Amino acid sequence: MPQSTSTRNDNWLLSRLDFIWSTYFSDVPQTNPTFIRFGRYSRFRLGSIRLNRKSGKTYITITGMFKNPQIPTAVVDNTIAHELVHYTHGFSSKRERLHKYPHAGGIVNQEMKERGMVKLYDAYRAWVKNYRAKLSRYVR
Ligand SMILES: [Zn+2]
Repeated sequence: MPQSTSTRNDNWLLSRLDFIWSTYFSDVPQTNPTFIRFGRYSRFRLGSIRLNRKSGKTYITITGMFKNPQIPTAVVDNTIAHELVHYTHGFSSKRERLHKYPHAGGIVNQEMKERGMVKLYDAYRAWVKNYRAKLSRYVR
């Protein structure tokens, strides 16, 4: 197995954000400064996005759990893409709000599908199925 030389830190996250933005969201200009970082280790909240109205900056936070290199990159990418869909829809960004609620009627998955990210979502689905099965054993 090839040894990975890249550590999963905030710089690595930024490189994933750059990749996803340029590959799948190139039509969406970064209308306000957008940052990404690892947050605390959260089992249930994998990612979040918020807009600081005072500074006009957007912050994407990814669970510290994803620092673990055993979690597929596609799963991290899917989480980042999910937050970028919110950004695109005008949630936690300065773009025009396209929907009333961020998760209304499967709009996030629909957008990901239309943008050609089915593979990312499938990788996530496969991972989360296994992950939830493990979690339910812990939580019980
Ligand atoms: Zn969401």
